[in-house]
Amino acid sequence: MKELKDIKSYNLKELKEEIQQLGEKPFRAGQIYKWLHVDKVETFDEMTNISKDLRQKLSDEFEIRTLEPVKVLISKIDGTRKYLFRIKGGTIIESVLMRYHHGNSVCISTQSGCRMGCRFCASTLNGLDRNLEPSELLEQIYQIEKNIGEKVSNIVLMGSGEPLDNYDNVTKFLELITDENGANISQRNITLSTCGLVPKINELAMKHLQITLAISLHASDDETRRKLMPIANKYTIDEVLEACRNYFKETGRRITFEYSLVAGENDTIVEADRLAARIKGINCHVNLIPVNPIKERNFVQSGKRAVLDFKRRLEKYKINVTIRREMGRDINGACGQLRNEAMKGE
Ligand code: SAH
Repeated sequence: MKELKDIKSYNLKELKEEIQQLGEKPFRAGQIYKWLHVDKVETFDEMTNISKDLRQKLSDEFEIRTLEPVKVLISKIDGTRKYLFRIKGGTIIESVLMRYHHGNSVCISTQSGCRMGCRFCASTLNGLDRNLEPSELLEQIYQIEKNIGEKVSNIVLMGSGEPLDNYDNVTKFLELITDENGANISQRNITLSTCGLVPKINELAMKHLQITLAISLHASDDETRRKLMPIANKYTIDEVLEACRNYFKETGRRITFEYSLVAGENDTIVEADRLAARIKGINCHVNLIPVNPIKERNFVQSGKRAVLDFKRRLEKYKINVTIRREMGRDINGACGQLRNEAMKGE
């Protein structure tokens, strides 16, 4: 069988070329693009201003890739929703909707699985399954919008996977989701979180996007960081911080540092002092995350007291700090745990 092309992963320019190759006028591409990314239809037959003949030609060449929601869990506490979607090939990915006063925020997965191996993270336990296509990144948002009948205004790339390890698809997704002719979500409402792939951070900086870059730092010295995150064997904290300074220089965007607090591993006052000294001078914000224990590892969450002390210590140095609010506690599992359970159950 002929491999169908994934039409939702094309930008308008590429779609125009494809449509011309079918012997059609380029303006048709604009109409089709709007059906896909504004009206978010799932079949060619719904494209009512396109002739039957062209609709047939399109379905001979292209597929409209969609994600099938296999489960939705809704928190009774705050309305947070966790979605499990089946992707082409059969595996399952996870996305989360968080409802805030300022709008709907969705946390998407960028890969099925992950190969970064962070010790405390459930997403990486079974390694990488595959990269997600731009269409599959978009679909996590489009399907959630359909499910709730409301628009999504904010996106965080903080689900399973390392976004910069799927660089081409992720940057294509960023282009599509922020396109004013398409879904039109503001760049400023998007945060990309990375474990710190230095060359890719520098490459992203040169795109001069207005998205927020979040760095999973989780330690104030290389030795501790290497214990928690294998990627720290490849890039030192100094190299990561240099890339952050460069990102700020190129984009003017304040950096977010994520720091998951693990009892007895990285949560002492000495470490808060060292962290403060290292990030001094970087226009940044620190987000503290009490680690969410996963049953496969014996990491323990820092106590409330330790988290508060860590926060106050950083604030003493005039660093902007927040503690991540736990959303959907009743449906919670650490990132990727739900997915792992769903896949085991099959
Ligand atoms: N790969 C990217 C994005 C995915 S994870 C990255 O590393 O940034 C999003 C954030 O959650 C990262 O900071 C990650 O380190 C953190 N995280 C993953 N598992 C966690 C857990 N069990 N408890 C607390 N934070 C966790």
